Amino acid sequence: MPSRGRRPLVRPELTRRRFLGATAAAAFLAACSRGGGSDSASPSPPPRLENDPFTLGVASGDPSSDSVVLWTRLAPVPIEGGGMPAEDVEVGWEIATDDAMGDIAASGVALAVPELGHSLHVDAGGLDPDRPYWYRFFTGDWETPVARTRTMPAPDASPEHLRFGHVSCQNYDAAFYAAYADLAAHGPDLIVHCGDYIYERPSTEAGEGFEELVVRDDPVPEAFDLGAYRNRYALYKGDSNLQAAHAVAPWLVTWDDHEVENNYTADSPEADSETADRESFLERRAAAYQAWWEHIPVRMEAPDGPDLAIYRRASFGDLVRFLVLDTRQYRTPQECGNPDAPIGDVGPRCDAAFAPETTVLGVDQEAWVADELGGSSAVWNVLAQQIVVQQWRFAPGNAAWNLDQWDGYPAARDRLLSTLADSDATNPVVLTGDVHSSWVGGLTEDFDDPDAVALGTEFVAPGISSDNGAVNIAVDVVPGNSPHVAWAEAMHRGWVLHDVNRDAWNTEYRFVDDATVEDSSVSTGSTWTLPTGHGAVPTRT
Ligand code: FE
Ligand code: CA
Repeated sequence: MPSRGRRPLVRPELTRRRFLGATAAAAFLAACSRGGGSDSASPSPPPRLENDPFTLGVASGDPSSDSVVLWTRLAPVPIEGGGMPAEDVEVGWEIATDDAMGDIAASGVALAVPELGHSLHVDAGGLDPDRPYWYRFFTGDWETPVARTRTMPAPDASPEHLRFGHVSCQNYDAAFYAAYADLAAHGPDLIVHCGDYIYERPSTEAGEGFEELVVRDDPVPEAFDLGAYRNRYALYKGDSNLQAAHAVAPWLVTWDDHEVENNYTADSPEADSETADRESFLERRAAAYQAWWEHIPVRMEAPDGPDLAIYRRASFGDLVRFLVLDTRQYRTPQECGNPDAPIGDVGPRCDAAFAPETTVLGVDQEAWVADELGGSSAVWNVLAQQIVVQQWRFAPGNAAWNLDQWDGYPAARDRLLSTLADSDATNPVVLTGDVHSSWVGGLTEDFDDPDAVALGTEFVAPGISSDNGAVNIAVDVVPGNSPHVAWAEAMHRGWVLHDVNRDAWNTEYRFVDDATVEDSSVSTGSTWTLPTGHGAVPTRT
C-alpha cells in the first residue's frame, strides 16, 4: 500500500468541488476543516476499517467538458449489507493529469453516509476539456487503484473522432464477463450502458427452465427492499472484469426493467409479481431506484421516493449528441400482454396499443426529445435507450408482436419516427439493449415497405452475459419478414464498438467465443460502416 506521504488532502486553490445529494453541506464543512478552512465543524474521528472497504471498485460517469462524476462505495462485506458501521466516513479523492498521480488537478474529501449505502458521487470540476484524467479514493489505511477517465470536448469544439463501447444486459449468473475484459482492453473514450445492469433475482428464482442456464453461482436472493437491491449490485460490482471496464473510461448509463423487476412499466409490476399492488410496487421501485443511484456514476440528486428523472443529454463536442432515454418509468402499462404466450411478451396487439395517449417516453420526455433534436447541430444524434425500435414482424397480420418493445406501442413509435423525420437533426442513430441479441437495421416510417427511406439506423447490442433464450426464434423468422433488418444474430454474448468520425460511423460487434469461461477469447462478429446523409443505411464490411 503506497503511503499518502505528506501531500495535503485538499489544495483549496485548485479544488472546485461540488457534492451531490443530501450530504453536500456536511461534506463541505468536513472538507473545509481538512483543507485548513473553517475549524468550526470538527468531524469525529473516522471509524477504523479493519478490512478493505473498496471491494466494489471505482467508476466515473456523466462526463462534461470540465467535470466528471467519480464514484465508489465503501463495502468491506459486499453482498451482506456492506459491512460498514452506521457512521459517516470521510473519503479522500484526487484526480490527476497523469497516471502516476503526480499532477493533481483537483482533490477533496467527501462524506460517505449510511443513508446512501456509503456510496460517493464526487463531481470533480475545473478540468480541461477533451483529455484523459486519472483518479483514486482513499480512507484510513485503504486506497483504490488508480483508474482512468476522460472529459468531453468543449460543446462548441469540432472533434474528429469518438470511439465508444455500447453494452447491455449483464445477468451475473448467466455467463462470465469476458466481454468486459475485452472492452476494457480496447480502452474506449466512453461506455454507454443501455440497461439491465443487474437482474433483480438469480436465475434459480426466475422460473422453470432458467436454472439450466446458470454458469456461475448467484447466492443473493431476489430483491424487494433497499438492503437486498444493494446486495445484488454488490454481487455484480464485485466482478473484476466489470470493475476493469469501469476503470478504463467514463460511463453513460441508463436503466431498463431488471433494475426493478422484469417487464415493469411505470407503476405496473410484471404479471405474477410478488409486489402486485401499486403501493408495494412503488415502495419496491423507490428502493430499486435508490440502489441504482447509489451504484452508478451519475450526475443527479439521490432519489427521495419512487421517482427519479434520469433522461439527459451528453455531448461529445459537435460530433455526437447523446440523448439518454428512460423507456420504463413513464410508459403506459402494457394492456395487450399475454403472460401465457409460448414466447414471453409476444402476442397480438389489442386496441389499446393504438390509442393516441399510449406512450413509451411519457409526455415530458417526448417533448424534451423533440426539443433536443430540433436544437441539435451535432453531426450524429444518438438515442441511447433500451427497447428495440425497429419492427420485428414474426408473421403476417396481427398475430405476434413483442409487446414489451416499441412494437407494443405503435402510436408512440409513430410519433418518435415523425419527430426524427421532421427534425433538422442529422444522422440519427438509436442504440438499444434488452433483447440479448445483435441487430442492425434501418428505421423507416413504414417498416413493411421495402422501398421506405431510412430515417435513421438502430444498432442493438447483444447481452454482455444474459442468455438469448427465446430470441433465437426471432432471429430465425423476423429478418425474412422485415426488409429494414440488415442483420440479426442471437448465438453470442458480447458488446459493440462504435468508431465515429465526421463522415462515417463504423461499428464492430465483438462476440464472446465461450461465455461459460471467464477468460474466453472475444472476436469480431461483424463490422459495419454507415456514411453520413439522409437515407443512409449501414453496409457490412
Ligand atoms: Fe436483459
Ligand atoms: Ca430488459
